[in-house]
Amino acid sequence: MALEHPKIKFVTYKGPFSRIIPVNVFEIINNDLCSYCGSCTAVCPTKALSYKFDEPDTPVINEDLCIYCNLCSMVCPHVAMDKQMFVELPNPMEKYLARTKIEKLHPVMQDGGVTSTLIIAALEEGLIDAAFLVARDEKWRPVPIIAKTPEDVIKAAGSKYVYSPVNNLLETLAFTHPELQKVLTVGLPCQIRAIHRAREVGLRKFVDKIKYTISIFCSENWQWSKMLEMMASAGLKPEDVVKQNIKAKFFFYLKDGKVVEYSLKDAAKYLIPACKHCPEFISYYADINVGALGLQGWNAVLIMNDKGKELWKAAVERGYIEQQPLPEDRWTKIINFDMRKKRSAWKFIKKFYGLEEEVKAQQKEAKWYQEWLAKKKAKEAAKKKQ
Ligand SMILES: Cc1cc2nc3c(=O)[nH]c(=O)nc-3n(C[C@H](O)[C@H](O)[C@H](O)COP(=O)(O)OP(=O)(O)OC[C@H]3O[C@@H](n4cnc5c(N)ncnc54)[C@H](O)[C@@H]3O)c2cc1C
Ligand code: SF4
Ligand code: SF4
Ligand code: SF4
Repeated sequence: MALEHPKIKFVTYKGPFSRIIPVNVFEIINNDLCSYCGSCTAVCPTKALSYKFDEPDTPVINEDLCIYCNLCSMVCPHVAMDKQMFVELPNPMEKYLARTKIEKLHPVMQDGGVTSTLIIAALEEGLIDAAFLVARDEKWRPVPIIAKTPEDVIKAAGSKYVYSPVNNLLETLAFTHPELQKVLTVGLPCQIRAIHRAREVGLRKFVDKIKYTISIFCSENWQWSKMLEMMASAGLKPEDVVKQNIKAKFFFYLKDGKVVEYSLKDAAKYLIPACKHCPEFISYYADINVGALGLQGWNAVLIMNDKGKELWKAAVERGYIEQQPLPEDRWTKIINFDMRKKRSAWKFIKKFYGLEEEVKAQQKEAKWYQEWLAKKKAKEAAKKKQ
């Protein structure tokens, strides 16, 4: 039975760690703010929140089992979002344009295959015992997997534009797989944010063995059932779709070689509010961010810290990567996307939660926002003069 929370209540903490706080995950789930990262189902000690393979939209709630320990809310990336993500822009140490030289990745990789290449190199170098990834079944249902070999990594290659509870696998580190001592996880920024939060609150047995994190860029995502509705509206059966991609439009690649285009405006009709609430296009907390931003067959790669450098070095030294510095205009495009995401999250938060004052205060503090606003005003003034 689902807990009833018809209206979100808010507590806004002021002070050095000012945060925007929906009260708990039940409110997140019942108000369609859950991006199904799978973190709460991993840490819930009683399985009041659980992962069910056949119901891949949100965690399954059994209120009677809840002991109100609050661990779920402590890890949820949508509860108590950190102000830093809104106010400061991410600042990578190194930036590259890159693609894989591993040929067996070519038929399955999403863009330049750098994500899978980094994992394969880390496995071969012994930097990790396994990686937590997401594969899919015939119906595009997400299937979180523990990848221990390059063949497993290949199985998980390619983007699934569906919420995928890969963090549910954190449970295996705490309870069932003692042989996994060094793990890499790939996720969307919300999933990596949940790992960061679990570290912050000291849920060590779930995250201490996560040695590396790779985030893929993310503008938005869909619940699995909504994705099926979207495919049906285009006259498509999920089992006929072999690849999905977004490059200004949504593209469905079919078994028979046909490609079906779908407008992003129409695709947006199937979104739930969760992603509108999210300020990260690139992750603050990952060791490496990988995306494409419209590039065909190449990746933009952002090395965020020393651990990211280690992963990168392993792949480059094995001769697996073709690389060049990321052109400055590409970086400008990426950061513009990130800023746009923050602005729309603020807009949503202001309206949905009525947090006008908190949002205004953050906007005043955000140097990037003030600069953007000044440029916008100057442009408008110049237009008026003409
Ligand atoms: C929902 C979603 C939205 C995205 N939005 C953008 C965008 O706006 N702009 C942009 O430049 N790039 C975006 N990407 C990233 C892009 O599609 C590629 O994943 C990225 O460029 C890496 O390419 P690659 O060739 O290195 O990936 P590959 O080597 O093919 O590896 C892909 C990896 O992604 C993981 N993965 C796939 N689907 C999911 C998922 N749903 N949740 C968690 N992990 C997953 C797999 O485990 C796999 O390891 C998005 C990806 C997803 C899944
Ligand atoms: S409060 Fe504790 S017991 Fe209840 S759902 Fe959350 S993690 Fe589970
Ligand atoms: S976003 Fe993640 S942690 Fe939050 S409710 Fe959904 S599955 Fe649980
Ligand atoms: S937009 Fe944010 S919340 Fe939505 S899937 Fe991407 S990272 Fe997660």
